[in-house]
Amino acid sequence: MTPLPPRVDVVVVGGGMAGLVAAWEHARAGRTVLVLEAGDDTGGAVARLDLDGLELDAGAESFATATPAVGDLAAELGLADRVVAPLPGGAWLRHGGGSAPLPAGGLLGIPAHPLSREVRRVVGPVGAARAALDRVLPGRVGAAAPTLGGLVRRRMGALVVGRLVEPVAGGVYSTDPDVLELDSAQPLLRPALLEHGSLSAAVRALRGGAGRPGSAVQGLAGGMWTLPRALRRALESAGGLVRTGTAVTGLDPAPDGRWTVTTASGAVTAGRVVLAAPLSVTAALLAPRLPAAVLAAVPPPPQQDVALVTLVVDAPELDAAPRGTGVLVAAHVTAVTAKALTHASAKWPYLAAAAGPGRHVLRLSYGRAGRPAPADTELPDLARRDAAELLGVELPAARVRAAALRRWTSALPRPGVGHAAAVAALRAALPPGIGVTGTGIAGTGLAAVVADARREGVAVPGAGPGP
Ligand SMILES: Cc1cc2nc3c(=O)[nH]c(=O)nc-3n(C[C@H](O)[C@H](O)[C@H](O)COP(=O)(O)OP(=O)(O)OC[C@H]3O[C@@H](n4cnc5c(N)ncnc54)[C@H](O)[C@@H]3O)c2cc1C
Repeated sequence: MTPLPPRVDVVVVGGGMAGLVAAWEHARAGRTVLVLEAGDDTGGAVARLDLDGLELDAGAESFATATPAVGDLAAELGLADRVVAPLPGGAWLRHGGGSAPLPAGGLLGIPAHPLSREVRRVVGPVGAARAALDRVLPGRVGAAAPTLGGLVRRRMGALVVGRLVEPVAGGVYSTDPDVLELDSAQPLLRPALLEHGSLSAAVRALRGGAGRPGSAVQGLAGGMWTLPRALRRALESAGGLVRTGTAVTGLDPAPDGRWTVTTASGAVTAGRVVLAAPLSVTAALLAPRLPAAVLAAVPPPPQQDVALVTLVVDAPELDAAPRGTGVLVAAHVTAVTAKALTHASAKWPYLAAAAGPGRHVLRLSYGRAGRPAPADTELPDLARRDAAELLGVELPAARVRAAALRRWTSALPRPGVGHAAAVAALRAALPPGIGVTGTGIAGTGLAAVVADARREGVAVPGAGPGP
C-alpha cells in the first residue's frame, strides 16, 4: 500500500457524502487534502448495488428539494441534466383502516389542505375538522413544542400525528415523531409557522405549491450513487487525495500546534482535521480532547439498525403501479413488519426503462422505534410477503428473480430534543484546527448533510504553522 503523505493542509476523516463535500471545498480553496475512509469505497450510505443486471441504490435513493443544497451540488458537478423528478404516481399510506394515497403537497405527512378529500379519507371527517382548526388557532399555539409530534398534535390533533405524520416521519427518520427534535428534522418549519400563521400555510409555503407528495424529492438518473462518484472525481481533479481501507484510530496534538492523525497504515499531520465519520467514531477520537459532558450531550444514535431488502420480481400486474411510488406503513399496522416499501421501478423513470415491462424493483425497509429490524434468517422472505400484502398482488417465491439485504447502523441517526443546542456547544468547545460534520451532527438526509458539510467542514480555522 502506498504510504500516507507525512503532511497535508487538511485531513478529512470519513469518505461519505459529508467528508467528500468538505474535502472538495477545501481542495477548491487551494489546500492539500487527504480523505481517509475506512471502507473499500467512498460514498458511505450513498452506495451502489448490482442486482439482476441492474445498477441500483443500496442506500439513499433521493434527496429533499425543500432546500437547494443537493440540486446545487449536482449542478456544480455537471449533473444538472441528470436530476429527475419521481414519476407522478405519488406515495401511499397503509394504516389500520387500509391503504390510501398520501395527501398531495404535504410535508413530513403534515397536510397542506386539511379538509381535502384525500386527508378525510385517511383521518376521517372528525380528524379533518380537528386538523382544520390549525387555520384559526393563533400562530404561536404549539410554536414552542420541541418535537415534530408535539407541534402537529397541538395544531392539527392526534389523528394527523398517528395516521399521517408518524408513517412519513417513521419512514424517513426511523423514529417516533414525539421524540424527533423539530429543529433538527425540519429547521424551516417553526419559522414558517410563525411567519404564515398556520401549519398548513407553512407547509404550502415550504413546498412551493408543488403537486404530488413525491415531488418533495428528486433523484439522479442512473442512481444517487453516481453523486459521490462524480464528487470524488471532482475532488481528485482538484488535487485531493483519497485513501480507502484506511480507518482512523487516533487524533493527537503534534508538537508544532498541528494535528497528527493515526491509521493502521501510518500517520499524517495536518493544520485542519474535519471529522466526518459516524458520530460514535468522532466522539471516540475527540474524547481525550473535550470535557466528557460536551460529548455526552450529543449521544450517538442507538445501534438499532435499519435493514433494507431489495427485490427484483417478475410481476406484470405491477406495471400499473397499484400503490404509486410506494407505501409508508403506520406503526400500528400489524399485518406487515416493513416500515416502508418503495416501488423503485414505478418511482424513477430511468429504472422503469432499465427494468423493462413486467420486471420490478422493490425496496423494503425495516427497523423503527420499538420494532427492531428482523434477523437475517427472516429476511428477505418476509420482505416478499410484506410486498405482496402492501401492493395487493400475488408474489410467490418463484417470481423473485433476485434479492439483496443490506444493514445500515449509523447513517440514519435520530436527533432527539436538545440535539441542535448540544451540537452548537460541541462546536464551540472544539480545539483549534478541528471541525465536525456528517449526519450524526447535521441531522438525517442528504440535504442536511451536504449543506452542513459545505458550511461547517470549511469553517475550521487552521492550527499551527502552514505545511
Ligand atoms: C438505507 C438508507 C436510505 C437512505 N435514504 C435516503 C434518501 O433517500 N434521501 C436522503 O436524503 N437521505 C437518505 N439516507 C440518509 C443519507 O444517506 C445519509 O444522511 C448520508 O448519506 C450520510 O452521509 P455521511 O457522510 O454523514 O455518513 P456516511 O455515509 O455514514 O459516511 C461516513 C463514512 O465514514 C466512514 N468511517 C467510519 N469509521 C471510520 C474511521 N474510523 N476512519 C475513517 N472513515 C470511517 C464510513 O465507512 C463511511 O463511509 C438514507 C440512509 C440509509 C442508511
